[in-house]
Amino acid sequence: MPSSTDPLVCHDNAASRVAELADFVAYAFAQNCDDPSLSRGLVGATWLLAESGEARHRHTARRLLALAAALHGARAPNVALFAGLTGLQWTFDALSTVLYEEEPDAEAELDRLLAEVLRVERWRGHHDLVSGLVGIGVYALANPRAGRCGELCAALLDQLERSAIRPEPAQATWITDGSLLVSHARELFPRGRIDLGLAHGVTGVAAWLADVAMHPEIDLALQLRAARLLDAAIAWILSRREAQEHPHGYPYFVEPDGQAVPTPRVRLAWCYGDLGVAWALTRAASARGRADWAEAARCTGARAASRDACDSGVADPWLCHGGAGVAHVFGCLARATGDPIFADAARRWWQRALDLAQEHTIRAAPALLEGATGLGLALLAAMRGAPPRWNALLLL
Ligand SMILES: [Zn+2]
Repeated sequence: MPSSTDPLVCHDNAASRVAELADFVAYAFAQNCDDPSLSRGLVGATWLLAESGEARHRHTARRLLALAAALHGARAPNVALFAGLTGLQWTFDALSTVLYEEEPDAEAELDRLLAEVLRVERWRGHHDLVSGLVGIGVYALANPRAGRCGELCAALLDQLERSAIRPEPAQATWITDGSLLVSHARELFPRGRIDLGLAHGVTGVAAWLADVAMHPEIDLALQLRAARLLDAAIAWILSRREAQEHPHGYPYFVEPDGQAVPTPRVRLAWCYGDLGVAWALTRAASARGRADWAEAARCTGARAASRDACDSGVADPWLCHGGAGVAHVFGCLARATGDPIFADAARRWWQRALDLAQEHTIRAAPALLEGATGLGLALLAAMRGAPPRWNALLLL
């Protein structure tokens, strides 16, 4: 019977898998990649190469980052975290001592660009982690340049407050406009939709607000503003809990007018569903000292842990909605709460993820979110047992 302090993976097996994954990622991205993104491209690959601990991979990582910067420089500015400049600069800042043995840049042109784009009266873009305000917020919270963290977070909070809708006076939520959806989603949701995922939705907004409300470099007045909006976001999320007979606790989407979107079964994943909700509730409970939210988080997480793998909808080993992502979030919940249910679930899900990670699967996909880079990073984190630097990228 494993104890809650046992490692989540067998160290030696995991170390040899990580070495194979890093070799494959270095090889795959050396072949004319023209995608500079964090989620699928060069910037994402940099993370596994930098974290692998091998000098030859750090050399490749520096080359990939330089190529990513050149590719971004030749395109129209894109400030999204997962596909744009915030992901690139966030990576430069976080890895500057690892890759260049230097402190982060004292000035960044991106900070001026963000101040300008956030000055609009009303933000019309995404509010989510992947492409929107929350993704810029992840960059803002980690910004090492004096004064920038607070300034950017204040501007982001202004936009989130203005764009929130209030189904009840004590609730807040955010609509993804139909014009922002990809074509097949727009056909299903022509008026837009409210997303509940950590990657694309209100759960992600709540997790970020909790981080702002607890951040030591944010002044008290701003922390309190974030906390008030967080209270309203959590009130809305909790109001969307499904009836007990559902196999899952929270849906993928809700119509803009609040009407439920019937879903037979929501997949177990980082990007959408109960694990992300459990994580956001855990963070919110810490930020606000709310024992009732911690209990709601425990119930939601425990229900996710009890789901049979065959009924979970998980079909690949990756980070976004695959086995490594499920194992990694359970590992984060275990560390945050000390609850052995989550450590046991993380161990079981690591076994499952590694079973799914056959060589032909790996060789088809080198990316961070849905590929070998993310699998390698999550496996390294499980071996080391400490929160990895890149966790903030996933709001973890
Ligand atoms: Zn996903």
